[in-house]
Amino acid sequence: MFSSLSDSLDKTFRNLRGVGKISEKNITDALREIRLALLEADVEFTVAKTFIAHVKEKAMGADVLKSIKPGEQIVKIFHDELAELLGGDQVPLNLDSPGRILLCGLNGAGKTTTAGKLANRLKREGRKPLLIACDLYRPAAIDQLATVAGQVGVPVYTPDASESDVVKVAKEALAWADSQDGDVVIFDTAGRQEIDERLVEELKQLHAFLKPQETLLVADAATGQGAVSVARHFDEAVGIDGIILTKLDGDARGGAALSMRAVTGKPIKYAGEGEKLDQLFEFHPDRMADRILGMGDVVGMVEQVATRIDEKDAMKSMERLASGKFDFYDFLDQMKMIGKLGDMKGLLSLMPGFSKMKKQLPDAAFDPKRLKRTEAIVLSMTPDERRRPEIIKGSRRQRIANGSGSTLVEVNRLLKQFGEMRKMMRSPKKMKKMMGGLGALG
Ligand code: GDP
Repeated sequence: MFSSLSDSLDKTFRNLRGVGKISEKNITDALREIRLALLEADVEFTVAKTFIAHVKEKAMGADVLKSIKPGEQIVKIFHDELAELLGGDQVPLNLDSPGRILLCGLNGAGKTTTAGKLANRLKREGRKPLLIACDLYRPAAIDQLATVAGQVGVPVYTPDASESDVVKVAKEALAWADSQDGDVVIFDTAGRQEIDERLVEELKQLHAFLKPQETLLVADAATGQGAVSVARHFDEAVGIDGIILTKLDGDARGGAALSMRAVTGKPIKYAGEGEKLDQLFEFHPDRMADRILGMGDVVGMVEQVATRIDEKDAMKSMERLASGKFDFYDFLDQMKMIGKLGDMKGLLSLMPGFSKMKKQLPDAAFDPKRLKRTEAIVLSMTPDERRRPEIIKGSRRQRIANGSGSTLVEVNRLLKQFGEMRKMMRSPKKMKKMMGGLGALG
């Protein structure tokens, strides 16, 4: 997402920074390029136009042109306007206890997955969510929600497949919810290929009956301006409180995220960035602006890491490394931790400067299969070899290769890599730098 927009912005701003003295013409030219880049990213025409006009007005301010680093100032103005366009402050859910959330959207937008992700998130935040299937048209959707609920460990209500009255189902579901130990009820509703009257009518009835505090539209970012028009329609029909934009991990051009708030006036509350059930994140406009400008999102990265690995495990491993020990047991621990981090490329793309580097890295570097192979090699070593890798010579290498179903070349490569890591781990200067970095993150 946003990668081609980020590239264009990077190029334009680099040119601007390189100019000794900035004139109005420099700014006008740069903004023209940016406007085209926004349109190419599928940002709505009037949104792009108004946005550029705002940036221009501020950038032309006398103070900016006279400042020591006008280029930097303009980037800052652009960043702040972008954050404003994306919604300004993050808007949290506004829930009572007990609370009700109604999810709506078109088929395939990611509604059911998002219901599971949201339940998972709320549970992690200490709430007790319950899931309710209200899609009476597709029995498969009911099963899918039940599966997702099982995966995140949340109770789920599934109606009888023959039921056709959605309000009746909602009534029964609420009675069921009363019998459960829950404090927020999430309703997954029926979708359609496109908005039609019957869907809208049903949703209106359900909405009027449930009076949810949060009616959230789940919209697929990959559909660009289509997502924006869907949001407008749903808002007119039932009045939505916010949007959950899914598939931000894909290679869509980002226009939906950028136009959504300006066109609908509704905040994007969450962003889905992957198929896994822990890949739903609060949408923070300022951090998103950082990301679009290639400045990374370190806070987001730390949050993601914290949800996936146990802090105690990480600290234990770091302490051992700091004491100068590093053998294949530590290596294995680290591999496991990396494995738990899952989507490494997604995670690393939140690092400042990484978005540019990412393209040069081979996908294989993040391939979970490769991690598994490495693990197999380590597991084929004897305990003594794992503790004292320096003894792994000649025939031992071949034996390890045979035992792990790999080749001598792979074993040699791993030992070399290990040797380099160990050298780094044993360098106090490098370790201190690494620990310092981690401290800053924590
Ligand atoms: P529904 O028809 O709206 O209920 O959509 P589903 O929840 O069945 O999702 C449709 C497809 O989109 C599934 O394959 C999901 O795994 C996938 N999906 C949902 N959210 C995301 C996301 O944030 N990123 C990616 N890459 N895929 C997603």
